[in-house]
Amino acid sequence: MKAVIISRGNEDPQIRELPVPVPDKGEVLIQVKHVLLTPEDLNVKELPLDEVVPGRFLTGEVVGTGHGVINFNTGDTVVVNPILNCGNCSYCYTQKEDLCSDPKILGKDIDGGLAEYIKVSEKNLVKLPLEISPQQGTFIPLLSDLLYFIPDSMTPGLTSITTINSIEGVIFTRLLLISGTIRNIIFSTSQRLRTFLKPDLRIMYTEETSAFSSMCAELGEHIDLGFEFTGDGSLLKLITKNISRGGTVYICKTVRDIPQEYNLLEEINSRMFVIKPGNFLSSQKRMKYSTKLLLTHALNTEDFITHVFSLEDLQKIKSILTKEPALTLVNF
Ligand SMILES: [Zn+2]
Repeated sequence: MKAVIISRGNEDPQIRELPVPVPDKGEVLIQVKHVLLTPEDLNVKELPLDEVVPGRFLTGEVVGTGHGVINFNTGDTVVVNPILNCGNCSYCYTQKEDLCSDPKILGKDIDGGLAEYIKVSEKNLVKLPLEISPQQGTFIPLLSDLLYFIPDSMTPGLTSITTINSIEGVIFTRLLLISGTIRNIIFSTSQRLRTFLKPDLRIMYTEETSAFSSMCAELGEHIDLGFEFTGDGSLLKLITKNISRGGTVYICKTVRDIPQEYNLLEEINSRMFVIKPGNFLSSQKRMKYSTKLLLTHALNTEDFITHVFSLEDLQKIKSILTKEPALTLVNF
């Protein structure tokens, strides 16, 4: 089968011929139909393996099942939950899989979806409802990732500030609106993202940090929630400088380039806000909610796809994903 491989120390992904995987006990063989790629997918930081097939967000058709598979049959259209629990730790044994001590991420720790076939444990599959197309279905795991940062105790009427540099960031701000926030100040690092935001009275948008701070000050409201979605230390600083006392900050990307004078702990102590990694929903539950969300048509997924390619266009895909915020659908 054809598969894309990224290797440690080699910037360029390659298309290579690999053997079709054979499903073991409890596993399902899937013929991949669509993969949704974000810039992160081809630019995996700190690759744990020498090489891996990238791709976290995929849909496909079941073409084979290993021994003991009970819930899936040949011909089923499925979407894959990209967080795979180990199945061997004390949490996995006691049905508390979300606390698994050794979870693996598809496309990083184990081979992902940018290949003609992939094998996955049936525990990680969700049947796609007929109302959701296989193209749309690729958004279910992406939304599921984003839903991790929606607070457990979300109540309508809250105010949020968010820093973004990606289309996923824009989609997240839509999830905030759907969750009932009434004032949302968005700072974006790229002009391009402006075009993906629908006009909405609940949104204030800027690409300037000084304008962002004045918007927060002028709003004169309690800023309850802050979301840092870029991984840039100076933007985390921007969020924590503007969050109100008693507010909650979510760090949604691994932070780098922290300004020297910036001490997060000191900031927390003096300004009394809380830092949270995410909510307590299991990835299975988030996959379910994402599916429901698509069924409500609250989100038109097509608005967010910037390019559609086939696997043969790999070099174009790579160059687009490294140049600008993009969300690329790859059709097989
Ligand atoms: Zn485990």
